[in-house]
Amino acid sequence: MMSGPSTSARFLVGAAAAAVVIGSLTQAGRAQGPPDVPAVSVRGQTYTPRSILARNMGSDEDQTTAFPPHKVIGNVYYVGTRTLSAYLITTPAGHILINSTYERNVATIAKSVEQLGFKFSEVRILLGTHAHGDHQEGDALVKQMTGAQVMAMREDVPALEAMRPGGKVHPIDRVLRDGEEVSLGGTTLVAHLTSGHTRGCTTWTMRAAEGGKTFNVVFACSYRAPAPVTPEIEAEFTRTFKMLRTLPCDVPLGDHPAQYNMAAKHARLTPGGPNPFVDPANCWGEAEIQEAMFRAQLDLQRKSSK
Ligand SMILES: [Zn+2]
Repeated sequence: MMSGPSTSARFLVGAAAAAVVIGSLTQAGRAQGPPDVPAVSVRGQTYTPRSILARNMGSDEDQTTAFPPHKVIGNVYYVGTRTLSAYLITTPAGHILINSTYERNVATIAKSVEQLGFKFSEVRILLGTHAHGDHQEGDALVKQMTGAQVMAMREDVPALEAMRPGGKVHPIDRVLRDGEEVSLGGTTLVAHLTSGHTRGCTTWTMRAAEGGKTFNVVFACSYRAPAPVTPEIEAEFTRTFKMLRTLPCDVPLGDHPAQYNMAAKHARLTPGGPNPFVDPANCWGEAEIQEAMFRAQLDLQRKSSK
């Protein structure tokens, strides 16, 4: 392992390069952003910060091409793109949408909702997992098109307010605190503060009924640590990774489909067959990967600052 000034210098160069890449994010995508160190192995797979981001985002085309819209379980449907998740939760009183993704994807999401036989104009509540453009940039447009109430975790409000595609003000109709509930037409979602990736990163839970049974559904936020991991972020993730495992979970979902192997599970869908999205054994698989990476990043930071 390298140490001393040369490693610090390498970090600075890396940071400068990342800043340049972030500057041209919208055109270039993020695949080359973070470094290729450290590497961690979890359940026989090796990950680096760069490989995780590439896995999450895919190509520009992956980010903007609809994945076939489908029922996940009960009244929960997938309406996002190949790499950016959006979920529709249908109720007799209108619908809840989780994540608008990029503004340029909103028409695609609306089309997926209609393909499933629902009306996009009946979206009444818009929620999000976290204040990054690939998940919530389209909020203002969704509100324009549907009149939905936009609700956000208090700690993410400043970052959301800074998100102004085309100069539009980011709508926020209700500010939520950790543990608050959002209810519509007999469905209740609970907002869990799982900060670290952003200050107000929110993991949503609800119960869905299917085949006479009830299932705990978890819409996970991203748990990918930014670099560098500051003491504040370290404290947030330490709390988050511990708290997550206390949530009841039968159906793990995520704000990027790769976080729960959506494509592979979708391919296993068969009429009348078992629901592949019911996967309690892998509820915290993604958290396990991200926690291992978080610890490795901290180790690397400590070594390089000695
Ligand atoms: Zn993010």
